[in-house]
Amino acid sequence: MMTAEASTEEYGLSDWARQFDVIVWTADAVTLQLRHVSPTAAGILGHPLEQWWTEEDFLARHVHPEDLEDALALFLDRARRRTERSGVLRFLDANGRALPFLTKVLTLEHGEGHAPELRCLMVRLERNTRASQESEHSHSHLRATLESTTAERDALLRKEQEARERAEALARRLAAGESRFRGIFESPLIGLVLSDNHGRVLHANDAFLRIVGYSREDLEAGRINFMDMTPPEFHAVTRRAMEEIEARGVASTFEKEYVRKDGCRVPVMLGSVRLPDPDENATFVLDLTERKEAEAERERFFRLAPDMFCIAGMDGFFKRVNPAFTRILGWSEEELRARPFLDFIHPEDRGRGEEQLESLRRGNAGPGLTVRVSCTDGGWKWLHWAAVPVRETGLIYASARDVTQQRKAEERLVLAEQRLRTVINSGPLVLSVLDAAGRFVVSEGKGLQGLGLSPGQVVGRSALDMYASEPAVMECLRRGLQGESFSSIVRSAGLTFEVFYQPVLNEAGRVTSLSIASLDVTERVRVEAEREELIRQLMHERSILQAVLQQLPHSVYIAEAPSGKLYLANAQAEAQIRGPAQPARNMEEYRAYPGFHADGRPYEPHEWPLPRAMASGVPVMAEAVHVIRGDGSRGIIEYSATPVRDARGRITHGVVVGVDVTARMEAERERERLLDELKLAVSARDEFLGIASHELKTPLTPLALKLEALARAAGAEPESPLARRLASHVEVMRRQVKRLAGLVNDLLNVSNIRGGRLALTLEPRQCDLAALVRDVAGRFDTEVKRAGCEVRLHAPAPVQGVWDSSRLEQVVTNLLANAVKYGPGHPVMVSVEAVDGRARLTVRDRGIGIAPENLQRIWGKFERAVSERHYGGLGLGLYISRQIVEALGGTVRVESALGQGATFIVELPLRSDAARSA
Ligand code: ADP
Repeated sequence: MMTAEASTEEYGLSDWARQFDVIVWTADAVTLQLRHVSPTAAGILGHPLEQWWTEEDFLARHVHPEDLEDALALFLDRARRRTERSGVLRFLDANGRALPFLTKVLTLEHGEGHAPELRCLMVRLERNTRASQESEHSHSHLRATLESTTAERDALLRKEQEARERAEALARRLAAGESRFRGIFESPLIGLVLSDNHGRVLHANDAFLRIVGYSREDLEAGRINFMDMTPPEFHAVTRRAMEEIEARGVASTFEKEYVRKDGCRVPVMLGSVRLPDPDENATFVLDLTERKEAEAERERFFRLAPDMFCIAGMDGFFKRVNPAFTRILGWSEEELRARPFLDFIHPEDRGRGEEQLESLRRGNAGPGLTVRVSCTDGGWKWLHWAAVPVRETGLIYASARDVTQQRKAEERLVLAEQRLRTVINSGPLVLSVLDAAGRFVVSEGKGLQGLGLSPGQVVGRSALDMYASEPAVMECLRRGLQGESFSSIVRSAGLTFEVFYQPVLNEAGRVTSLSIASLDVTERVRVEAEREELIRQLMHERSILQAVLQQLPHSVYIAEAPSGKLYLANAQAEAQIRGPAQPARNMEEYRAYPGFHADGRPYEPHEWPLPRAMASGVPVMAEAVHVIRGDGSRGIIEYSATPVRDARGRITHGVVVGVDVTARMEAERERERLLDELKLAVSARDEFLGIASHELKTPLTPLALKLEALARAAGAEPESPLARRLASHVEVMRRQVKRLAGLVNDLLNVSNIRGGRLALTLEPRQCDLAALVRDVAGRFDTEVKRAGCEVRLHAPAPVQGVWDSSRLEQVVTNLLANAVKYGPGHPVMVSVEAVDGRARLTVRDRGIGIAPENLQRIWGKFERAVSERHYGGLGLGLYISRQIVEALGGTVRVESALGQGATFIVELPLRSDAARSA
C-alpha cells in the first residue's frame, strides 16, 4: 500500500540509500537463487548486475572462502525465520579484494506453495567516500560545460534527451526496485531517520524507534533529539559528523552509543547524508548490540582462553597476544611484542620457524609447527602452533598449545622404550608371551642366542609341544597358565635360567596370556660357584697361615696402616715377652711395650721398626731391641718389619717378626770370652814350646857327639864282645837321636811364629833339585826298607835352580817320610822335572789316602787326619813344608782320596826371589 507521502518518502530513501555503500538483495531462502539485487551492488563490488543472477551460486562464489561457512550459516538459518540476524562477511569484488560488510538477513514465509524468501542488507564497513566525491565533481563539471557552450547545445540537448530517457527508463526500473526497497526499509533490519540540522528527529522507521526505545507518539510529538540521546563522551564525535555533513554533505560511518528512552545504552553504527531538499539529514542506524556482544564474547574468549592466541604481522612481530602467553611463558605482552617472535624460538628449532614464516608470507597456512619457546625462567616449552595468514591485512592469526608435558611424556616413552629395547637386546634375557593355549605370541631378547633361536622364530608354536620332554619346564608352564605368578630356576639346553612367570587375567579371572621373563644366569651361577670355591680355598689357606703363624718359633705382629692398630699377634708374641701382647688400637698405645735402646732409653712409638717400615715403605731388618719381660727378666729381641701393599701399591698393613736372640747373644759373648782365653793359652803354649825346644836341643847336641864318640870307640875294637853288643844299640840310639833332633827342630821352627808366618831365613844358592832328591832318598834307604817300601825315583835330567837347598831338603824329607809312614808296604814314586819353566816334584804313595774333608785342614799347624794311636807325629810337617815352598815362591798341593794313596805336588820357580823370608 503506497500513499503519496509514502511514495515521496520512498523516493527520498531510495535516492539517499544510493549514497551509502549498501547493497540489498533477495533470494530463494532454500536454493539461494538470487531474485533481486540493488543496482548499488554493481558500483560497490564491480560485478555486472546480470552476473548476480545468471552466475550459478553467485553468493557462494563471491563470499570470502574463509567466511563461507559463516555465510551459509547466516543465510540458511531456517530455524530463525522472521528473526533478524546479522554477521560481518567479506565479499570479493571484481578485483578479488575482500570487502567487509555488515550483513543483516531475514527469512520471510510467503505461505503454502511459495518458497520462503531471504532478504539481505549488506552495509560496507569501510566506506570509500572519495568515489562519491568524484562523481559529484564530474556532475558539476558537466553542468558548467552545458551552460558555457551554446554551439553544441542541440547536440547536447539531444544527448540530454537521450540521457533523460535513459534516466527515466532507469527511474522506472528503479521504481520497480523501490517497491522492493520499501519492503526492506519496513523490515526491522536498519533504523532510518530524517532529522533537521538541530538533531531533531522528524521521521524514523520502526526499526529506529525500536533501537532507541521511543514510541511513534514520542516521535510525532517531537520528543526525539539525537543530541539528547548522545551520551557526553560521544558529543565530540557526533559534532564532528555534523560538521562533516555541513561541509561535504555526507558523514563517514562511525560507531557510538545512544541513551535509550529507558536510560539503557545501545551501541550503534550510523552514517548520515544531507538531503538537499528539504534541508534534512538522513541517517541510517544499525543496532550493534549483537555484534558488540559477539565482539565482547570474542574478546572474552581471547582473554580467557587457556590456549595462546595471537595476531602477528608478516614483519615477524607479535601485534597482539592473549594473557595465556604470559601465563604459560612468563613474558609480558610488551616483552613479547618488543622482539621478533622468532627470537623466542629455540636456536635448534628456529630454522623451521623461519620456513613456516616464509610459507605464511606466501599465503600458505601449512600443517602446523611444534617448536621450543623460551620462558622467563630460562627454560623452554614445547608449543604447537597453528597459523593462518590473511594476505589482505598482512596479519597472521595463530594459536599455540603447550605440548611440553605431552612432548616430555613422548620423550619419556621413547626413552623407556629404548631402555627396554637395550635391556632386552643387551642382557642375557628372553621375553616371551604365551596365549591362553600356550602358543608363543612374543619371543624376544638377546638371551635367545644361547638357545640357538632368533627373535620371533618360535612365535605361533606351542610351548607345551616344544618342552614336552622337559617335565620341570612343563610344570612351570602349567602353573603359569593356571594363573599363578612365581619365579623359578629352570635348566634347559645346558643353560640355567631364572624365570619369572606373570599371567594376565581378564575380568572373569581367566588367564588370557602368560608373560615369561627368562634371565640366563648360567654364567652368574658358574661365577658364584667359582667364587664360593675361591672363598673356601682362601679360608683354608687362611687357616693354614693362621696355624703357621701360631706355630712359628718367632713372634709375628700384623698392624693396619697408617693407624697402627694391631690386627694380629701370634702366641709366640706373648711367649717372647712373657706377658700379654697389648691389643694396641693405635700407635700411641705402642708405649705399653717394654722396649729399650742399647743405651736404656725407651722406644718412642714411632721409633719401633713396624711404624718406621709402614711410614717409609722400606723394610727394617733385624733391629735388636732390649726388652724387660713380664717376669722382670731382660732379653733381646731382633725385630724385622716390612710394609704390606695392596694391588695399587698403597701400604695397607705392616708385618713385624721378632726373633728372641737373648741366648744367641749370650753364646756369642761366651764364645768371644773362650776365644780370648784360647788365644792366651796358645801364646802361652808357643812360648812354652819355644823354651822347651830350645832347652831340649841344648842337651841333644852333646848327646849326639857322645854317641858318635861311643860308636867310634866301639868301632876301634870291633872284636871285643862289648863292642859287638853295643853296635846294634848304638845304631838304634843314633836313629832315635836323629829323630828327636828332627822333632825338636820342627818345634823350634814353629815356635818362631810371628804374625802367623814361620820366620825363615833363606840362603838361596844354585843347586840341582834332582840330585837333592836323590840324595835325601838315599838317606832314607834304611827306613824305606824297614817299612817294606821302595822309592822309585824318576829324575831323567838335572833341574837346576836357585833355592835354599837345606830348606828344600826339609820339604823333600817331610814328603818322603809321610809317604813311607802312611803307605807302608807299597812303592813310593818320586819324580823331578822341569815343566813350563818351573821345577816340579811329585811324591806319590799308595797308602791310606786322605778324606776330602781333610784335604785343606792337614796344611794347618798341629793338624792331623789320623789317630795318635796308629800314627805318631806332631802334625807340623806339612805346615812347615808349605811355609818353606811358599817362601821360595812356589806352591804345594795334594790330590788324594781315602784309601787311594796320596800325591803331593811341589812346583817352584827355577829362580826364587832371594829374600822371601818374613
Ligand atoms: P804328621 O805326619 O806328623 O801327622 P804332617 O804335617 O806331616 O804331620 O801331616 C799331617 C797329616 O797329613 C798327617 O797326620 C796325615 O793325617 C796326613 N798325611 C800327610 N801325608 C800323608 C800321606 N802321604 N798319606 C796319607 N796321609 C798323609
